[in-house]
This record gives sequence, C-alpha cells and structure tokens, in this order.
Amino acid sequence: RPTIGVLALQGDVREHVAVLHALGVGAVGVRRRSELDAVDALVLPGGESTTIDKLLRAFELDEPVRERLRAGMPAYGSCAGMILLADRIIGGIDGQRTLGGVDITVRRNAFGRQVDSFETDLVIDGVEDSAADPVHAVFIRAPWVEQVGPAASVVGRVADGPAAGRIVAVRQGPLLVTSFHPEVTGDPRVHRLFVQIVRDSL
Ligand code: GLN
Repeated sequence: RPTIGVLALQGDVREHVAVLHALGVGAVGVRRRSELDAVDALVLPGGESTTIDKLLRAFELDEPVRERLRAGMPAYGSCAGMILLADRIIGGIDGQRTLGGVDITVRRNAFGRQVDSFETDLVIDGVEDSAADPVHAVFIRAPWVEQVGPAASVVGRVADGPAAGRIVAVRQGPLLVTSFHPEVTGDPRVHRLFVQIVRDSL
C-alpha cells in the first residue's frame, strides 16, 4: 500500500488527504525533509503558488523535492500545484520560481476576471468512464496551459464556453497536473488515476 504525501505548507491539504484516505491509501502531510523521504509520491495542492514557492525555499524543501522529481517520484499538482510542477510560468510575481518537471508553460490566473471561478464538465484521458460520465471540474483563479513541449501530453481540454479548447490537464510519465480541483467535488476518479500511476511506479 503506497504512502502518498501531500505538501502541507499552504493550500487545501486536508481535502487531498481525505480523498486519498477514502481511496484506501496512506496519505500524510509533508512539511520537512524527513517526511518527504518517507513517501512514495507527492501531491501539490491548490492554494497560492507564490506563497508555496516562498515556503518551499524557507523550509529548504525545494531542492529535495526537485531531486525526488528528477529521480522519478510520481507527483500530482492541482491548480497552484500545476504551476509548481510546470517548467515555465507566465505571470509569476516577485521572482516566483517553479519546481518544474512537466514540459509545459502555464499562465497564472489565466481565465480572467469574468471567469475567475467557474465549473464545467471535462473528458480526461485516463480517467475511467469520463467520456460517458465527464468529470465535473471546479476552477478557482486557475492557470491554463499555454504551451506543451514534446515530453508532455495533453489529457484534458475545456469543451465549451469562453475558454473552449484551453488545456487544463497534462500528463508526463508519472507526473499529472490539472488546472482544477478534483479534491473539492467528491469525485475520486482523478485521484484514483494518480494512485494507479503511483502503484505502477513501485
Ligand atoms: N491563483 C493561484 C496561484 O497562482 C492558484 C489558485 C488555486 O490554486 N486555486 O497560485
């Protein structure tokens, strides 16, 4: 049974832990190096990526997490977590850096003021039954993916409305990122996909 860490510096940590527990996997908050060393995989939650970036550096976790990512640790980032796992960022502030890992360029707060927060139904490659039973996705001041490099694959796009066609879910090997927050909707299928990625990696 894998143990999945949830980076617990800021953001909606408890929600991710709760979904992972509901799926029957071990889930623990990660705040220090020793906790990182003890997990098989890491979730980077939604929250505020500029704050999480600062805290990662203050807690001296940024390089250790980068090292684990380079060594193939599976990771899943939702919203702010997507920003943290992106190789490139547009609209970061105050010298904001990312951990990187996924060959994408994200745009922070991309959906604009009118659609700061919105909900839509998505088909996501790899998520069971999502073609017949789409994933209800909640976006909160979310990033979108502006550019996808050759190493990464698009697995989800907005289907309709003003943001139609925008890339909101990407996979690169054991790394998964989504612009939205599946941890708040009670649908465990995105986390189940990640748990499968983690199991396949062990
Ligand atoms: N706008 C936030 C950021 O830039 C992300 C919002 C979220 O995670 N809900 O980090």
